[in-house]
Amino acid sequence: MLKSARAYILAQEKLVRFLHEHEKRPSKVRNIVLSLACALPQPFTAEQLQRACEAERISVGTVYNSLNTFVDAQIFRATERQRGKAATEYELITGSSNRLQIVCKKCGRVTDITDKAITTLVQDRKYSNFNMQHFSLFIYGECRICRKKKIKTKA
Ligand SMILES: [Zn+2]
Repeated sequence: MLKSARAYILAQEKLVRFLHEHEKRPSKVRNIVLSLACALPQPFTAEQLQRACEAERISVGTVYNSLNTFVDAQIFRATERQRGKAATEYELITGSSNRLQIVCKKCGRVTDITDKAITTLVQDRKYSNFNMQHFSLFIYGECRICRKKKIKTKA
């Protein structure tokens, strides 16, 4: 089975559960948007999904509404990233994975990192009336490439 097909099945299960919990109706068009979103290279922007949906004659409004529903249903996570201009990117949430990333404020480069100490610290936290499932942490700064560039221009 294709990776995107498996992702779509899992995503659809999440969506069905979410719609049921929130007493919302399932929609055929929304399912098409979901399958197209799962098939896109991750992460993607709303514009990229919109382009993929154009062939299916799905309206821009439907694309955005569907995306909001997918984020609410925790199928995709939305991240604001500065890449020249602020653009929201969407990425499939696979399983219940935690996410630790370093983000360069200059070039927008995003890198996954592992930090056992932070992961353990956050996972062990208890918040009243709240059941933690997973977390995201972004650490902002300047990447090695941008720092090198700065040193060069100074010299
Ligand atoms: Zn950089």
